[in-house]
Amino acid sequence: TIVRSVLKKRVPLRMGRMCYSSSAPTTKLFIDGKFVESKSSEWLDIHNPATNEVISRVPKATHEEMLAAADSCSRAYHTWSETSILTRQQIFLRYQQLIKDNIKELAKLITLEQGKTLADAEGDVFRGLQVVEHTCSITSLMLGETLPSITKDMDTYTYRLPIGVCAGIAPFNFPAMIPLWMFPMGMVCGNTYLLKPSERVPGCTMMLAKLLQDAGAPDGTLNIIHGQHAAVNFICDHPAIKAISFVGSNQAGEYIYERGSKNGKRVQSNMGAKNHGVVMPDANKENTLNQLVGAAFGAAGQRCMALSTAILVGEARNWLPELVERAKSLRVNAGDQPGADVGPLISPLAKDRVNSLIQSSVDEGAKVLLDGRNVKVKGYENGNFVGPTVISNVTPDMKCYKEEIFGPVLVVLEADSLDEAISLVNKNQYGNGTAIFTTNGATARKYTHEVDVGQIGVNVPIPVPLPMFSFTGSRNSFRGDTNFYGKQGIQFYTQIKTVTSQWKAEDATLKSPAVTMPT
Ligand code: NAD
Repeated sequence: TIVRSVLKKRVPLRMGRMCYSSSAPTTKLFIDGKFVESKSSEWLDIHNPATNEVISRVPKATHEEMLAAADSCSRAYHTWSETSILTRQQIFLRYQQLIKDNIKELAKLITLEQGKTLADAEGDVFRGLQVVEHTCSITSLMLGETLPSITKDMDTYTYRLPIGVCAGIAPFNFPAMIPLWMFPMGMVCGNTYLLKPSERVPGCTMMLAKLLQDAGAPDGTLNIIHGQHAAVNFICDHPAIKAISFVGSNQAGEYIYERGSKNGKRVQSNMGAKNHGVVMPDANKENTLNQLVGAAFGAAGQRCMALSTAILVGEARNWLPELVERAKSLRVNAGDQPGADVGPLISPLAKDRVNSLIQSSVDEGAKVLLDGRNVKVKGYENGNFVGPTVISNVTPDMKCYKEEIFGPVLVVLEADSLDEAISLVNKNQYGNGTAIFTTNGATARKYTHEVDVGQIGVNVPIPVPLPMFSFTGSRNSFRGDTNFYGKQGIQFYTQIKTVTSQWKAEDATLKSPAVTMPT
């Protein structure tokens, strides 16, 4: 009920049409179990991307507030890390139920701040919820190993233990899923957690924090600060923080990886993408075109796993007109409007950037078969909308191919053979996700073995792994060596202690010092 009352204050009943003044609600910090107003003099406006109206404000936390949050994490660590694993498991069992009970409210907040459609926003929560559900298996996930009788009367066993205070820095495009990749995994292992949500979409994360508190997480186990560079530098530099999970752009991710690592922290950094969908001429055409269009334009292309590049192999190049027709049929509208397929981009700046990348493709000789730049959405004329855009005759040297566009734009290349398609995929700087569409098992097998990409779908357009696996990435899509969630996530948030013990019978007691190395 507290969550609902918070929500009532924050969410206008008719999203996208309500006008706020400078008295827009403020986003609180979450420090030591309390939602507190920041004393900062620096605040950022949060806009509804469908209207650009200011809906709330978020502070850049002061240095004292960030210190208080980190201190709270450090204090709570001593008791939380010693809390029984069954107690931690119970908290996350309650938490997953509370998320399920509030999925619609969480989705509304996402649509309001981020812009994606309500159905897609529910998917955002759901994919994060699955990670929380997985944390409930912590009693199996944290098992150590044993090897009895390594020599006479001697056994070796390992404990998997938490590492201390961990921190997460999140992007704007999945306001629920990505924070839920971070703090539940870290906390269930016995760590305490300092989270910095994206300053553009903090509302959903705050509600997730309230639900975690309602589930019974003790004060100080999760703290939340807001801000931009100063908050990020604080996390990279604070000596109590042992590990940093980052998801976002390369500009930020490479910087955080370097600065955090230099300070001796573990860092996992998931970054940008340019995901290729390879379409073989033997593919199921109907299925492939629908999947490709959904994965290119869903969430307005603002997914790190969006299929933003199509490679049409051989005769599949003739499918282009039908691809364009399907893209044309998608409805662009505010995310809370019935029937909306493609919502707005996050900001006017993002819209300008996407539009200029489309223009760069024209200037460099590509052909815009479907141009979403001048799309008009009735009732939402000030929104950051770009309609589905399809660009053909694209070559690898063009800016629209080299850069991640992060908008509803599909660039199309052609290849004469599977080998040529594989070579294109492997030459791109990113290795986040890819998909191949084919009915030939040998083709699929060759592709999955030869591409250097983290997530590969065979007739699956957005192959985000379930939480018992890990979300990986290669080349410029990832820095670090241990990935998010799954077994690798547990490894990232834990350390190993190895105990070797010997219990001898009394008559086997050593009679003199053993000075040689034991063998
Ligand atoms: P972003 O890098 O702008 O922001 C991410 C976080 O970093 C935010 O919390 C922000 O405050 C902080 N930040 C931003 N610029 C910074 C800087 N110069 N120095 C230090 N910190 C900075 O990313 P975004 O625009 O919010 O998210 C979109 C990007 O995230 C895309 O590139 C997308 O591909 C990527 N992404 C990757 C994955 C993945 O798993 N590989 C998942 C989702 C999004």
